[in-house]
Amino acid sequence: MFSFEVLETDGFARAGTIHTPHGDIKTPAFTPVATQATVKTLDVHELTKAHAQAVLANTYHLYLSPGIEVIQEFDGFAPFMNWSGPTLTDSGGYQVSFLWEPKNIHSKTERAASVKITDEGALFRSHIDGSKHLLTPEKSMEIQDALGADIIMAFDQPLSLSSSEKRQNEAFIRTLQWEERSFRRWEDLQKNRKNFQALYGIVQGETDVKKRQESLQFVLNMNFPGIAIGGATIGSDPAITKQALETIVEMFPNNKPIHALGLGGGPEGILNAVSLGIDTFDNTSVTRMARTGLVFIYPEDGGTTKNKFRIDTKKFKKNDRSPLSNKCTCTTCKEYSRAYLRHLMVNDELLGGRLLSIHNVTFMNMFMHELRNAILSKSFSDFKKEWTS
Ligand SMILES: [Zn+2]
Repeated sequence: MFSFEVLETDGFARAGTIHTPHGDIKTPAFTPVATQATVKTLDVHELTKAHAQAVLANTYHLYLSPGIEVIQEFDGFAPFMNWSGPTLTDSGGYQVSFLWEPKNIHSKTERAASVKITDEGALFRSHIDGSKHLLTPEKSMEIQDALGADIIMAFDQPLSLSSSEKRQNEAFIRTLQWEERSFRRWEDLQKNRKNFQALYGIVQGETDVKKRQESLQFVLNMNFPGIAIGGATIGSDPAITKQALETIVEMFPNNKPIHALGLGGGPEGILNAVSLGIDTFDNTSVTRMARTGLVFIYPEDGGTTKNKFRIDTKKFKKNDRSPLSNKCTCTTCKEYSRAYLRHLMVNDELLGGRLLSIHNVTFMNMFMHELRNAILSKSFSDFKKEWTS
């Protein structure tokens, strides 16, 4: 079954455990993104060694390829990718909404998708073969049922902050309707499932106090098993994310987990979000950054809020024999020099992206582990100060 318990709190920050049919997630926790049923460049053994507790896959991508029939034959995307731990899927709402906004269309692939959103759902073309698809709240639930994750998301329509007020209002109302439809279809689908799937309702409304609160109240009234905070403001700017979360933190229930969708901002953004009640979050940039040569570093290695705890491996000295991080215990830091990592990255060697992904995922999970311990020992604010001052 599925449940959540808070073990300790420090201010609004909470340390807890999410119990799922495929194991526990000790929170606060990072869930690496496995868009196409793979956390790019890492296999499941590397993920486990990097202390990953759960992975999040994308409905939109897996629906288009390899397709639901294939995933069903394998009893879900987790067995398909040989991952035995807890899993999450998003609803596809973000991808279709993103492609609906003309200003986001830059590439041929994106243009080919040409999305049309109405109250019924999102009509789009596959960027792979041009076939037409209608993604509705009901369809998203059916796809996520087949993908088989422990935690799934209601279908929503997030918009970027630059959208007109009219469009934002429409999307806000539509999201409430889509969430209710998601909930009804999810309830039906549960009757025939072997394992319980926990549906998270999604809170939209950006930094608008009234909208955020109305949205969360709706999710609480419907009694979704979990809550996800969405929208462009849960992005890479720690100050804006803080502003968005501050509007609702006092309404967070202590028996339901809170997930931040696509939370960025590195350690500073995470510290802010956790201090405002966030239990889990996902972010693609942790592995995307690694593939471009950017790695996370600890304060002991020179990480500060100014350099966002990041360093560019391509700027390491050619003959630097020291490890990437003196503190990190991952294989990359234990077995390879800065000089070698630089060499791999400046020559676009595939191994470079993999070794740096191992480091970044390990870093993020170890950071969350330390952060959790700080909450458990009621020393979270000291921990936050150590990192941010
Ligand atoms: Zn490392």
